[in-house]
Amino acid sequence: MNSLGQPTIAIQNLDFYYGQGNLRKQTLFDINLEINAGEIVIMTGPSGSGKTTLLTLIGCLRSIQTGSLKILGQELAGASKEQMIQIRRYVGYIFQAHNLLKSLTAKQNVLMSLELHSIAIAQTHQQAETMLTEVGLADRMDYYPANLSGGQKQRVAIARALASHPKLVLADEPTAALDKKSGRDVVEVMQKLAKEQGCTILLVTHDNRILDIADRILYMEDGRLASQSGTLALTEG
Ligand code: ADP
Ligand code: MG
Repeated sequence: MNSLGQPTIAIQNLDFYYGQGNLRKQTLFDINLEINAGEIVIMTGPSGSGKTTLLTLIGCLRSIQTGSLKILGQELAGASKEQMIQIRRYVGYIFQAHNLLKSLTAKQNVLMSLELHSIAIAQTHQQAETMLTEVGLADRMDYYPANLSGGQKQRVAIARALASHPKLVLADEPTAALDKKSGRDVVEVMQKLAKEQGCTILLVTHDNRILDIADRILYMEDGRLASQSGTLALTEG
């Protein structure tokens, strides 16, 4: 899959509904959005406005209903389960709860994600160690999640998400459970790795203190998307 010259994410006229029959309720309204390779985009907006719903559609965790959504040029409208699974290989996910497996060490958690990518075993160990070193956990590789702080656990989750060099990283409130300093550290690590790897990041957050890492800020309200001129206007002068 080659993403050169095409947006990482391209969405046109996307609506989304939860429920059936009388309970059917529209959650997303006419979403139009393009995100280019290498961009770091933050999506913010009130709770219940549809941010997570949009993220799960972009991440192929849920099927789209109407409109067009292309990831790395691949259309998700009418895509088969196999096609969706295929596209998920190019996506790294980071959630509010780090979702580490408690019975595995930091390194084993990162290894697990690499094993899904049919890479040679020796190389997966090397890659897991490199990633954990990059996120500042060289001396914590063999620790279990119970013995890591909240910020350290989230950094393991970042190492896990980025170890396979995904083209797109989707992060849903990754700093929500962290104090100010660890939250900041975590997004800075994410930003650094994304710039090194050239991957695209779409990050949902309520955390105003991290908005400055974005190339562009989007605002979601009542299922509709509006972009904010914010940092873009500032950086482009
Ligand atoms: P946000 O992430 O911005 O807080 P969500 O995408 O989680 O918003 O939710 C948007 C709306 O969709 C809310 O009204 C929420 O109650 C509803 N919703 C979310 N998930 C589901 C679901 N699985 N089934 C039905 N309604 C849902
Ligand atoms: Mg949410």
